[in-house]
Amino acid sequence: MEALGEFDLIGKYFTRPVRHAALGIGDDCALLQPAPGMQLAISSDMLVEGRHFLSTVSPQRLGHKALAVNLSDLSACGARPVAFSLALAMPRAEESFLEGFAQGLFALADEHGCELVGGDTTQGPLNICITVFGELPPGQALLRSGARAGDDLYVSGQVGDARLALECFRGSVALSGEAFEQVRVAMELPQPRVALGQALRSVASSAIDVSDGLLGDLAHILKRSGVGAAVEVDAVPRSAVLASQPTALQRECTLAGGDDYELLFTAPPALADAVQAAARLSGVTATRIGRINDSRLLTLVDAQGRAVPHTFGSFDHFKS
Ligand code: ADP
Ligand code: MG
Repeated sequence: MEALGEFDLIGKYFTRPVRHAALGIGDDCALLQPAPGMQLAISSDMLVEGRHFLSTVSPQRLGHKALAVNLSDLSACGARPVAFSLALAMPRAEESFLEGFAQGLFALADEHGCELVGGDTTQGPLNICITVFGELPPGQALLRSGARAGDDLYVSGQVGDARLALECFRGSVALSGEAFEQVRVAMELPQPRVALGQALRSVASSAIDVSDGLLGDLAHILKRSGVGAAVEVDAVPRSAVLASQPTALQRECTLAGGDDYELLFTAPPALADAVQAAARLSGVTATRIGRINDSRLLTLVDAQGRAVPHTFGSFDHFKS
């Protein structure tokens, strides 16, 4: 069989009729027509093999995750996904890979009404860069800088399973087949909290998505907001699989795990009911895990109120 060329593969796997964009794939630029008066929210995330994903991941799940991590950034800002572009480098134009990758990618894209409008394709080490475009009303974006002393600190869903899965792949933790499958799904098929982000627009005072580890990402909110926080480490929600692991590993995974793609956000206590209503509406849990204070320090306490030494790092691509 003759190798698939660049333009054939774009045509076969990535070109679909556009539904909302003014112009999609096939020209030098795509054209988006934002709804009148709306702001565009834009974010890019790159996935590099060996760095952001393991070669063992299926093409479907890789396609899903490449878009999911980008939708997670839009969610953290409270934006509604509209469109995305895809820059793809791969060693060979392998149809079995392209087919699975496109399937996973478009399944998630369709779920959120976010259409592929353009990109770039080149030969090289497997590397996927997506840029997402979202919309939101001016002045309503959730930012990292809005946390205020007295606000409650929340996290959506559960955190830590993706890191537990990574430890299994590394061979440092052993799980039963079923438990491993469960945490592997958390690592390979993260669910971006798109509905929750939008529902929190007029409720949360600040937000970020947890990609590099809960404490590290919280530190970004604290720094940008000029505040501190006390985190109740045992209140951080985790799966039953993770909860059956030794305490030290649970803390490492929940507090410094990364790759969670849950929303970490703050809201004034007066809006606690509104937070829960937003969560219910979005079909996801929101758990209060601490409080913002004016200390500018990040402190950790256990269920008994005792201080927990803070030695957890955050993922940094140039330090690890
Ligand atoms: P140019 O050379 O003008 O940059 P290309 O030849 O790279 O354009 O791409 C041709 C068309 O295919 C463009 O509309 C581009 O946006 C689109 N495209 C290229 N690669 C992808 C991809 N991986 N996914 C979606 N669209 C793509
Ligand atoms: Mg061109």
